[in-house]
Amino acid sequence: MEKLLVLTHVDESGVALTKASLEAVAAGVEFAGASGAALSIGIVGAETGTAANSVAGASARVLTVSGEAFAQARYASDAAACEALCRAAEATLVFAPSSSRFARVIPGVAYRLGGFADTHITALGAGKTLEASRWFYRQRVEAMIRRESRPWFLLLDAGTRAPFAAAAGQVQAETVAVSLPQLRSQVTGIVAPKQDEQTIRPEAKMLFVAGAGWTKKQADGQAHVAEAGSLILNFLRSADASLGSSKSLVDQSSENQQVLSFLTHMNQVGQTGATPRHAKGLATCCHGEEPHVVGWRFINDRRAISLDPNCGWARGKADVVYVADAFKVMASVNALLAENKQ
Ligand SMILES: Cc1cc2nc3c(=O)[nH]c(=O)nc-3n(C[C@H](O)[C@H](O)[C@H](O)COP(=O)(O)OP(=O)(O)OC[C@H]3O[C@@H](n4cnc5c(N)ncnc54)[C@H](O)[C@@H]3O)c2cc1C
Repeated sequence: MEKLLVLTHVDESGVALTKASLEAVAAGVEFAGASGAALSIGIVGAETGTAANSVAGASARVLTVSGEAFAQARYASDAAACEALCRAAEATLVFAPSSSRFARVIPGVAYRLGGFADTHITALGAGKTLEASRWFYRQRVEAMIRRESRPWFLLLDAGTRAPFAAAAGQVQAETVAVSLPQLRSQVTGIVAPKQDEQTIRPEAKMLFVAGAGWTKKQADGQAHVAEAGSLILNFLRSADASLGSSKSLVDQSSENQQVLSFLTHMNQVGQTGATPRHAKGLATCCHGEEPHVVGWRFINDRRAISLDPNCGWARGKADVVYVADAFKVMASVNALLAENKQ
């Protein structure tokens, strides 16, 4: 019989499990139910009591590794914790969230245990035998993977299933001891931009894409880059949207053209950029060429604002195309959003 361990860790609050961890728990519960595998859940964090209760009702053995050394992400301590949990559970299968904390340690843990790790798993088959799917070649080819080797580690992409919802009750967890190696890295803090300065927001419901048109000469023969910047940032703030860009726009900084300073190549959506997973998308001043639109693969509800009635969006790539000046449309949208807020 397979022994399935779901590895989880606490979030920034230090007490609750991350959403991606609870998604991995949901995957574990579903697979254990379908296959009859024995289910264990491993929790890593400084304090794990509250986190353990968030898996109440999972019908699993709950194992915890806790203590100050596990308060923050660090390769040496996290790898030791995951290895100890895998050994305690005698795991043949391991599911873990593809968080920055676990994505960097799981391949190393698999190596220590003589197993295999597969990353970016987006779905699991419904049968008794474990089958995992992931995408290759910029989301163009989907593969279904099966492995005979054990232990088999699967890093599950976040946002691919609903998180586990706990039943009421207290969970009796078993503490697993870890012998830590010498810890040479000291985590002294995290330096990160403020939440509202971050333009890439994977959890946002909406993707707003800015195209090169925002920086091009407009009807009056002038470019209006500063105005474009403030219209875009205002919208992002009011709608809590994530910012994507076309390649042409982010490439402009290396071509000495006027640029929107808050855009980097990280914002680029498309064949050579990202493939985000927001529920809705609005493309503005963007032509909707195929290398850009392939990055919209997972965005089902699509709208675009373009001056060109023959742009790619109008040729079946968007549900609604507003053939209009995006400067005017977005100024009105921002005014409506501000009115609504009041
Ligand atoms: C191998 C390869 C890989 C590529 N990978 C990517 C990729 O990953 N991502 C990507 O985006 N591209 C990629 N490209 C480039 C892609 O083919 C396009 O060149 C690019 O997407 C065009 O960007 P754009 O639509 O913003 O700019 P443009 O083609 O310049 O379009 C600007 C649009 O803005 C409109 N516009 C101007 N002013 C206004 C206004 N006031 N209101 C409304 N509309 C206005 C114009 O009508 C025009 O349609 C790749 C190309 C190749 C060859």
